Amino acid sequence: MSSTTHTASSIAAADPDTGSSAPVGVLPLQLDVGYRPGEVATQACLVQARLGAGSSLFTALRCKHSPTAAHSLRVALSCSAWGMAVDLDPELLSDLEVAALLHDIGKIGVPDAVLLKPGKLDECETETVRGHQAMGLEILKSFGAPSAVREIIRYAPAWYASEVDRVPPHGNGLPLGARMLSIADAFDSMTHQQVYRDAMGRSKALERLVEAAGSQFDPYLLREFFDVEQADSVELHAAAARRWLRHLASETSAGDRQLSAPGFPAAAESLAPLFLEKLIGSMRDGVVCVDSQLHVQLWNRGAEVLSGVPAEEVTHQRWQPRLLKLRDEDGRAITEEDCPVRQVVLSSVQSIRRVQIQGRTPQPVAIDLHIVPVIGPEGQTRGANIFMRDVTSETSLEARCATLHEKATRDPLTQLANRAEFDRQHQPFIERHLERNEPGSLIICDIDHFKKINDTYGHPAGDAALRSFAELLSANCRPGDLVARYGGEEFVLLCTDCDQLAASERAEKIRRELGDMPLESLSGKRITASFGVTETAKKDTATAMLCRADQALLEAKSAGRNMVVTVNPDGIGRKSHGEGGWFNWWKPSRSMPVARAQLVSKVPLRVAVEKLRGFVTEYQTQAKAIDENHVVLRFEPEGNGLLRRESDRGVAFVLELGFYEEKTVGPTLPGRVRTRVEVAVRPRRDRDRRRSDVVERARTVIGYLQTYLITSEPGTDDEPVEPCGTTLAGTWLAE
Ligand code: GH3
Ligand code: MG
Ligand code: MG
Repeated sequence: MSSTTHTASSIAAADPDTGSSAPVGVLPLQLDVGYRPGEVATQACLVQARLGAGSSLFTALRCKHSPTAAHSLRVALSCSAWGMAVDLDPELLSDLEVAALLHDIGKIGVPDAVLLKPGKLDECETETVRGHQAMGLEILKSFGAPSAVREIIRYAPAWYASEVDRVPPHGNGLPLGARMLSIADAFDSMTHQQVYRDAMGRSKALERLVEAAGSQFDPYLLREFFDVEQADSVELHAAAARRWLRHLASETSAGDRQLSAPGFPAAAESLAPLFLEKLIGSMRDGVVCVDSQLHVQLWNRGAEVLSGVPAEEVTHQRWQPRLLKLRDEDGRAITEEDCPVRQVVLSSVQSIRRVQIQGRTPQPVAIDLHIVPVIGPEGQTRGANIFMRDVTSETSLEARCATLHEKATRDPLTQLANRAEFDRQHQPFIERHLERNEPGSLIICDIDHFKKINDTYGHPAGDAALRSFAELLSANCRPGDLVARYGGEEFVLLCTDCDQLAASERAEKIRRELGDMPLESLSGKRITASFGVTETAKKDTATAMLCRADQALLEAKSAGRNMVVTVNPDGIGRKSHGEGGWFNWWKPSRSMPVARAQLVSKVPLRVAVEKLRGFVTEYQTQAKAIDENHVVLRFEPEGNGLLRRESDRGVAFVLELGFYEEKTVGPTLPGRVRTRVEVAVRPRRDRDRRRSDVVERARTVIGYLQTYLITSEPGTDDEPVEPCGTTLAGTWLAE
């Protein structure tokens, strides 16, 4: 192109700041240069409709400088509307539209620094911009654009008047399309924002065009353009767009090529294989194609990267699992027999599997292997497409999530659920049972004298004991139950669909099994635990239920340990199992104890019993009930024996006593026999308003008893002990 030609928008050079001809602006169709989502699709559709395969050039322009692409589309629609309004020859109109869309294609080659420069261009930069047209024509030629289109673009910048632009052709010798494009291009450039100049109003722009009528622009055509622009140009542009799209639809369905850009091949037909090839080539996933004989037909770059095996090494070779050192998820090698690719080709059923391959690194790579059979039109399996996706990061993420979940829900020592997990599940457990009107129960248990176990055998042995107890609890779980370590040596067990009777029997079973279980870590010694049991109550909450079970556990502890105490949901009735579970077996006393004590008599059981006999005589009390180790003494309101002096208050109560003979086994004083005495004091009537009087009186009685039994405070003699197995004689106290 001659250096003396002008760009179509050079009229804008009348502006003092203008240095570039890059057009920017807003399309009447509201197809904004901003390419908002949706508009890109509309624009792409219009361009595809008009350019077919040539639309890839337009896409390239949009990628380079989207305002220029938007400007080109506006100019093309403007030309189209104009052509339609004046009934332009369809072939010429078609060429004009294509030329308008691509007239700035050469800007692909203009450096951004020039294209985007806000100020005046220097000489060299101006030269570069001028050069864009030559470059554009070159691109169009090599792309096979028809010469009529190229001629319009070539001469659009030429001036109409010969005296200004002496290079022929000029005047009406210039192609009609070129003269039209020249006007539409200049008008759009002026009415839209540029990097180097603000947009001017439409009437001002038309004024400027008039000033250049006969010199730069064909005056007759300019009048036509005016008439079209004065009419409803927005509606005209929209009509042009609709026409393009209609033709796209009919062209796709009926092969009507009237409007398709001459010289541009239809995109879908000729470019699809190229696109597919590029797509497969650039995919990060591995893609392998095998024929029905399992011979590799394609091995893409992704497969090379994943496997470290170059395509030329395997193409036309038979696919075998050992090509990739294929292993299953557990790391076992996959044999040829089990090879999923072979199975897919044989069965024609697709398969998705997670496997491992030996990639480029010594560590195996986890991949998702998706194999899809390829079935020909005749219904025969022609082979398979194999997709390989590296899922290493996913698997490590999954593993990390699993670890985090584990940490959040598991107790690391026993592998049981932890307290947080129990807390999370407890309330839903209650709600589930209340909804179904089925009882569910909670057992809470605590190892007895665990501190002593740690002190005697060491902390690691204590840990091992905790683990053994945890295993025992787990073994006693049914599906749907939850066993958790609540903290320290305290455990909880949620028993699904289980009333408190059944739950206390289960607790009793666990208690017995634990007591019978020699622990290796404790040199074959056994441990015991205490249990509190309760079942779900109406309107129960997790806190209330836990509180009841805890209360029962405390009761089991203070009543001598190694015991199961069950508390009714209303908190009144209690039932106990186990060694020390004697004090409730005596039915008449259902009241809560007001005082408890554990005394250690430094004498054997035989002597302690003699002492007790003296106490009974002295206080003129009555033994109300007795079994092998337990006795219940009744104190009347009017007072008994020695107590009479201070019994004016007249409160009736019972004293419940349990006697256990033990032998010390610790290193300091081994073999000492002594008697542990568990004491509980209860008012005769549960709701006795004078409970505090009972407490006071009970203290006095316990004080007397202590002196009778020659006792020491528990804890002052903290040696480990073993039960002697002797029992309190069953007859001597009977009335
Ligand atoms: P009681 O019969 O009244 O329950 O007496 P106890 O000694 O079992 O109860 P106490 O609460 O006095 O002591 C609990 C002990 O449990 C104290 C603590 O050192 C020990 N303990 C808590 N957690 C662990 C653990 O993870 N490992 C070990 N080895 N000991 C623990
Ligand atoms: Mg304990
Ligand atoms: Mg404890």
